[in-house]
Amino acid sequence: MRKEDSLLSVRPYRSPHHTISDVALVGGGSYPQPGEISLAHNGVLFLDELPEFKRSVLEVLRQPLEDRMVTISRAKFTVEYPASFMLVAAMNPCPCGFYNHPEKECVCAPGVVQKYLNKISGPLLDRIDIHIEVTPVPFSELSTERTSEHSSTMRERVIRARRVQEKRYEGKGLHCNAQIGSRQLREICRIDATGKALLEKAMERLGLSARAYDRILKVARTIADLAGSPDIRTEHLAEAIQYRSLDREGWAG
Ligand SMILES: [Zn+2]
Repeated sequence: MRKEDSLLSVRPYRSPHHTISDVALVGGGSYPQPGEISLAHNGVLFLDELPEFKRSVLEVLRQPLEDRMVTISRAKFTVEYPASFMLVAAMNPCPCGFYNHPEKECVCAPGVVQKYLNKISGPLLDRIDIHIEVTPVPFSELSTERTSEHSSTMRERVIRARRVQEKRYEGKGLHCNAQIGSRQLREICRIDATGKALLEKAMERLGLSARAYDRILKVARTIADLAGSPDIRTEHLAEAIQYRSLDREGWAG
C-alpha cells in the first residue's frame, strides 16, 4: 500500500443485530472502544427490525445523530469518536405485519399497533429525515414489462445533486444538505409564500414538531437539487411532507 492511498476506500456498511448492547452500538467500556456507529462513520448504519432493539439502545443514538460524533466520559478522561453515519432502519407496520395491507386484514388487537410504534420514541423518529411506507406489490404488477428508470441513471442524478451541494457549501465547512445547521437553514432553504402556507397547514394537520419542520426543509432542498431546480418549489415541499408518515398523528393515530 502506498502512503498516499487512503486507509478506507469503500464506505462502511454496518448492520448490527437487534440484540446489540448500548456499549457495542455507541462505544464504551473501561478503555472506551468505538461502537458500531463509529465503525459506520461516513457510511451506512442499517438497523433491521427497529422496534426489536432495546429502548435504551435506540435512545443512545439520539445524541450522535445530532452531533455526528460521540463523547464517552470516564472519571479521568473523555474520548470523542466520529459518528457521522447515515441511519437506515426497517420495520414491520405492526406485529402481525398486515397493517395497511391492501388485501389482507391486520389481526392485531386494538392499541397493539400504537404500542409497537411507541417502542421507538418520538424524538428518535423526529431525527429520521425520510419515512416511507412500502406496501406489497401484487404479482400482476411485478410481472409487467413496464420499463422503469435504470439505477445507473439514478446514480448519475445523485452524483449531480451532490456536486451542486459541494459547490453551494464550498468554504462553509459543510458537504451536503443533511449537515445544514439550524442557524443556516432559513438562509439556505428559502421558500416562497405559497410554500410557507403549505408547510404551515401540514404542521397543523399532522401535528409536526419544530424538528420535523427543519427536516422537511432540508429534504425539500435535496429533492430540488435532484430535480436540478435552484429554488425549492411547492411540489418539492409537498413531496418532503409526504415522507413524515410515521409522525405520531400520521400512523395508527
Ligand atoms: Zn397487525
